[in-house]
Amino acid sequence: MNAGFGIPRLRAFGASDGSAVARSRIGERRRRDSGFGGIRSSGFARPRDSGFSARARAWFAIAVAALCWACGGGARSTGTPIAAGALRGANVLLVTIDTLRADHVGAYGSTLGATPTIDRFAREGLRFDVARAHVPLTLPSHTTIMTGLYPFSNGVRDNGSFRFDGAKPTLASELKRAGYRTAAFVGAFPVDARFGLNAGFDVYDDNYGSRPAGGELSVLERTAEEVVAPALDWILGRNPHSAAGSWFAWIHLYDPHDPYAPPEPYMSRYAADPYTGEVAYADATLGTFFDRLRAAGALDRTMVAIASDHGESLGEHGERTHGLFAYDATLRVPLVMWAPPALAPAVISAPARLVDVMPTILDLVGVQAPAPIDGRSVRPIVGSDGRGEAPESYFEALNANITRNWAPLTGIVMGGLKVIDLPVPELYDLRADPGERQNLYARRRDAARPLEQRLDALTAHAPQAAAGPVDPETAQRLRSLGYLVAPVDRPARTFTARDDPKTLVGLQNRLDAALDRLKEGDAAAAESLLQALVAERGDFTAARERLAFLYRETGRLPLAIATLEAASRTAPADAEVLATLGEYLQQANQLDRSAAVLEAAIKLNAAATDAHEKLGITYTRMRRFADAEREFRAVLAVDPSSPTTYNNLGSMYLAADRNAEAIEALTRAIALDPRLANAHNGLGVAYARAHDLGKAVEEWREALRLRPDLTDARENLARVRR
Ligand SMILES: [Zn+2]
Repeated sequence: MNAGFGIPRLRAFGASDGSAVARSRIGERRRRDSGFGGIRSSGFARPRDSGFSARARAWFAIAVAALCWACGGGARSTGTPIAAGALRGANVLLVTIDTLRADHVGAYGSTLGATPTIDRFAREGLRFDVARAHVPLTLPSHTTIMTGLYPFSNGVRDNGSFRFDGAKPTLASELKRAGYRTAAFVGAFPVDARFGLNAGFDVYDDNYGSRPAGGELSVLERTAEEVVAPALDWILGRNPHSAAGSWFAWIHLYDPHDPYAPPEPYMSRYAADPYTGEVAYADATLGTFFDRLRAAGALDRTMVAIASDHGESLGEHGERTHGLFAYDATLRVPLVMWAPPALAPAVISAPARLVDVMPTILDLVGVQAPAPIDGRSVRPIVGSDGRGEAPESYFEALNANITRNWAPLTGIVMGGLKVIDLPVPELYDLRADPGERQNLYARRRDAARPLEQRLDALTAHAPQAAAGPVDPETAQRLRSLGYLVAPVDRPARTFTARDDPKTLVGLQNRLDAALDRLKEGDAAAAESLLQALVAERGDFTAARERLAFLYRETGRLPLAIATLEAASRTAPADAEVLATLGEYLQQANQLDRSAAVLEAAIKLNAAATDAHEKLGITYTRMRRFADAEREFRAVLAVDPSSPTTYNNLGSMYLAADRNAEAIEALTRAIALDPRLANAHNGLGVAYARAHDLGKAVEEWREALRLRPDLTDARENLARVRR
């Protein structure tokens, strides 16, 4: 019996069902459709009721009376002063809508009509007219929101290769300490539990499955409706882990992030402007979500905060999406706080920042903010006359520095001016030139100087945004494999105008164009574009990686490996490149070399869950089962809800003839992602070995239903029939 059933083919480990996830580098930007249709949304009916039940009104009214506020009057002014702890005990619902440009929100001046839900909350609450992000990338920006810390303080500088270590307090951890139940419902892989933002949450729902919807070049994501459904269950107590007492929920909607493909009717309605279609879809979904909460009384005693993590460039300054530059197209975000009547409607014109979100919420609900932090509560600004000092807003965009070795971009906004510190420095007067078209730096160095001094002071002790120094043993190991290793004491590199992202944005767009061709199925065109990029800029690691990916996808694995090895010789070894190389070597059956490369990748970046996962697969194939188990457990320790990892663990148990454990792990994988065909196939094998052919056949049929091309399942079924 034992020998009769094939265990899932080893390729099944990662290539088709699972670890594809991490293959596409999250920092990469993809296509955007151009054009703008100006089509108005009419599909969403604006709810008419005032939003607050009598019970909630009474509750907040008590708080208001106790503090002797003068209520009413000047809405749309600088607001009514709010006492610290005015919302003591209130539930907190934080909604972040990824990639939402402030100027696409009606309350911020958009005439597109795409955001009736946000507009209503803005009208009934505090709207911060000028709010800025500190980094135009999903994981680092959300980390600033959660910690009240700038990226150099919280340690998360880029998507994918950084992980929040949980050492600093977060909004979730502080509310939890204050007795709140906490839950997060996130829309996409960049904020997967494995990157650490699950710190402080009782429930961290990142169940978007394990395969990207749009193929391997896409990021795993799920729709707004799929995010809010479990959130609604949790808030309304339909879930065993639901909240009793005060609760904090974070909802993250990823829809407006590229690629822009809203579901119908938004796709048709916004055919010429699908980005706005995604915004309209996310807003309408929120509208239904809030209506249900309101009907159930769950918005009583609840403070709602709505923000975005960053904007979207939509072609401005030559940038198609976000992440490369830090103009206000990607730094300006909507920010709304709503809890009527305690928070009387007001528009706050003093600048606010995403690092202010955490301390402000804590201040309002009467929980002490941790210290020291970079943000401050903006509560005292409300109802003051707008005077007082507005603090600086620091920002950075380091993805291109980290993944391409281009010049690092940092900067600061202060007193209506903005300095971008690059080899070709920039200064903008944001009041006179909100589009940042006139670089005043050369003419007004005197005006730039105080900003530069403040920037230097802020970042004087900021750690380098790179992997830590490599230990001598790892360095030796990498050299023995033929790879470059940065010296332990990295000499300060001098970047010139040649390395300025303004000079190089064309390369970025050509890389995007190559990826577009690849997605459209024109591999030949993509290949020549990528080869030209690599020839032009040898240290453009991202281009080499894509070229290697293309070679592998078109059946040229040795060429793919050679390309990645060349990348590791032209630029200092990078944990992500090494992880991919280790995977390709594994597929080429060069298992010793694969293990060595993956071990080095982990030494370079211990937080690289992806490399641990791949190494586990390589060890399994080497029949080093105990080592494999250790690697998979390392992934599960930081990401306990990873279906791919349970699938790989189960496959390892199958290979090791540990049948009961295989059944347990594979069942877990399927519970986390029922679409994992390989897990169904593996589970069928385990059941067959346990002499439960009925269940085995059921699993193989399900595997085939999910993936008709899964030969293993077909053969297993045929063998039973014989
Ligand atoms: Zn984002």
